[in-house]
Amino acid sequence: MASVLLVEDDPVIRAALLDVLTTHGHAVRSVTQGFEALREATQNPPDAVVLDLGLPDLDGVDVLRMLRGISRVPVLVATARDDEAEIIRILNAGADDYLVKPFSGGQLAARINAVLRRAGHPAAPDPAPALLRAGELVIDPAARTARLGAAELSLTRREFDLLAYLTRQAGRVVSRRQILAEVWRESYVDDQTVDVHLSVLRRKLGESAAAPRYLHTVRGIGIKLVAPR
Ligand code: CA
Repeated sequence: MASVLLVEDDPVIRAALLDVLTTHGHAVRSVTQGFEALREATQNPPDAVVLDLGLPDLDGVDVLRMLRGISRVPVLVATARDDEAEIIRILNAGADDYLVKPFSGGQLAARINAVLRRAGHPAAPDPAPALLRAGELVIDPAARTARLGAAELSLTRREFDLLAYLTRQAGRVVSRRQILAEVWRESYVDDQTVDVHLSVLRRKLGESAAAPRYLHTVRGIGIKLVAPR
């Protein structure tokens, strides 16, 4: 598993890329602006960056140049423009590889693995997505199944996505806003929807908000999944 910083402002493309990368076992953080990407890459250096060129605040090539001033992290650029001058500009600015939109998820995953391998990343991931584990909870993102110990959990699509997301972020507090952005990916859903799904998940995991095992509410901040001791 590698940590990937995804820089993409288009919510639909961002959601699709996030899906592909997480399904292939990567831990993905996503940002929508160039300056945010530079700050994130500095504070929390990723193993690889997927960088969109058309960002709202900066040209992606300028982001790439600034990033190269501080980091040798492998960068895969996603561009809508495929003329030769553009590709040369991208590579000269320090990109390790590029993809021309629209591209398939399979191609993105393969190219990310290739740049990670070339960078000598110790755990360049397998083609098969990794299982997610926390305590007795085992989630298979490819088969979309979740087990708690020997019992298979019967989950709706959204419950599965929510549980998989929380398990990927295990040990970290995530806010309802983050959950809405990463699991629902729709702006018109409200916080209560998250709470309702959390309460159903708790029931299916055999716990409650008052007696949590995996799903811990952090008051005023959000929720954290931790493996019980
Ligand atoms: Ca864009």
